[in-house]
Amino acid sequence: MAQEDVFKKIVSHCKEYGFVFPSSDIYDGLAAVYDYGQNGVELKNNIKEYWWKSMVLLHDNIVGIDSAIFMHPTIWKASGHVDAFNDPLIDNRDSKKRYRADVLIEDQIGKYEEKIEKEIAKARKRFGDSFDEAKFRETNPRVLEHQKKRDDLHARYTEAMQGPNLEALKQIIIDEEIVDPISGTKNWTDVRQFNLMFSTEMGSTSDAASKIYLRPETAQGIFVNYLNVQKTGRMKIPFGIAQIGKAFRNEIVARQFIFRMREFEQMEMQFFVKPGTEKEWFSKWKEFRMKWHQALGFGADNYRFHDHEKLAFYANAATDIEFKMPFGFKEVEGIHSRTDYDLKQHEKFSGRSIKYFDPQTNESYTPYDIETSIGVDRMFLSIMCHSYEEEKLENGETRVVLKLPAALAPVKLAVLPLVKKDGLPEKAREIINNLKFHFNCQYDEKDTIGKRYRRQDAIGTPYCVTVDYDTLKDNCVTLRFRDTMEQERVSIDDLNSIIEDKVSIASLLKKLQ
Ligand code: ATP
Repeated sequence: MAQEDVFKKIVSHCKEYGFVFPSSDIYDGLAAVYDYGQNGVELKNNIKEYWWKSMVLLHDNIVGIDSAIFMHPTIWKASGHVDAFNDPLIDNRDSKKRYRADVLIEDQIGKYEEKIEKEIAKARKRFGDSFDEAKFRETNPRVLEHQKKRDDLHARYTEAMQGPNLEALKQIIIDEEIVDPISGTKNWTDVRQFNLMFSTEMGSTSDAASKIYLRPETAQGIFVNYLNVQKTGRMKIPFGIAQIGKAFRNEIVARQFIFRMREFEQMEMQFFVKPGTEKEWFSKWKEFRMKWHQALGFGADNYRFHDHEKLAFYANAATDIEFKMPFGFKEVEGIHSRTDYDLKQHEKFSGRSIKYFDPQTNESYTPYDIETSIGVDRMFLSIMCHSYEEEKLENGETRVVLKLPAALAPVKLAVLPLVKKDGLPEKAREIINNLKFHFNCQYDEKDTIGKRYRRQDAIGTPYCVTVDYDTLKDNCVTLRFRDTMEQERVSIDDLNSIIEDKVSIASLLKKLQ
């Protein structure tokens, strides 16, 4: 099946099984805003718990906060967001569609790369085992031609983005003869800057002073609380502050479902270190964050680092963790070495001294910061994409199964009475009443057992138990495993010990030690 079709199926599966709904659905939705349903919220909460505990529980030098979404407007001046949190936009006059100029150019770079890959695939087929890819790349005239075009464009693009130089961006679009995918024309407007922050007014007057912003990232809430936390928590460098919360961006190109939303959630951690040690900490955090992702068991091949070639002027290292989505490798998390830029800016704009006094060396300094920043929703999407499977069964039927990591699954155990009478429902309820304090259980008595299994497979429930007439005599149930569909007769008394450990967030956290 084409990857595009797989993605469409995942989107409709999310809606059909109560994971993600378009916001304001009965009013035909609101672009790039989504609601999480009864199963989605459980999965999302589990992702957040996994992240939070991996930061705050596993590190005795990391604490959490929960800062407000509304903040003093000067914060966004200090952080640079008022002046520079912009995307370069261009409109096509025929389709009346708006695009990000940088995305159009990056897609064009991608097209040259695709052409090279195609030449290589063709040659590999032709030469078979004797194919030497490195040599082919170095010598094949067509590959060299595409490579040169790609590199020239990339260099021009990187230079135009410094600033950025809007005329230069437009000139690239003209020179490369980039057409609008909808109208097919090159009838472009000039490139303009567009600020991504939503603003609103606070209080009853509408003068300029009352204009405030919905935060476009949670990080600034951490920086402005640096002093509060360091002092009240008696934190010693190095230490970190973690936060999970909503962020808002007026994204122009809002597409790919929950990949790019206008209201989304971030999990960010700022780790404050002594200047000069930041590179070392940057590497440590890169390694730890990759381990966090890979502990989910999706396979190392599905992840890669993408080191930034062009750094923000205040950063001295930056990388993205990318995950292989059905639409290619995409950023899920960013790790940035932000130097002392943010704290220094807040020092300047607030007039307050934000320094750390090291009692051992008697030195005072502004700490450097390593940031790890991951989107909850993008993480959710990557998990859904990887877990969704359509399996051909031996009897010719197809089952749709979400092979979610057990610790993240919305429901851990479904308890199914074989029939709705003769004391079996009561026995099933009794099992749930004993286990519900340990993990999330669901009762289901409707339809055949087979149909009930399918419903649980579709929401990723790792375990089902069936209560039958023998259960009333021997206190045993049939335990069915989601992935293998194998069944086993087990005692009700053993259920908790068989399941609890495997479905707990602790089972994931232990892999990080
Ligand atoms: P992109 O280049 O994809 O716009 P970004 O580099 O602007 O992302 P950051 O500012 O580094 O993203 O934000 C950190 C994380 O927050 C991203 O890795 C992503 O997971 C998440 N994120 C950012 N913007 C969005 C969005 N509009 N919708 C959903 N998640 C987002």
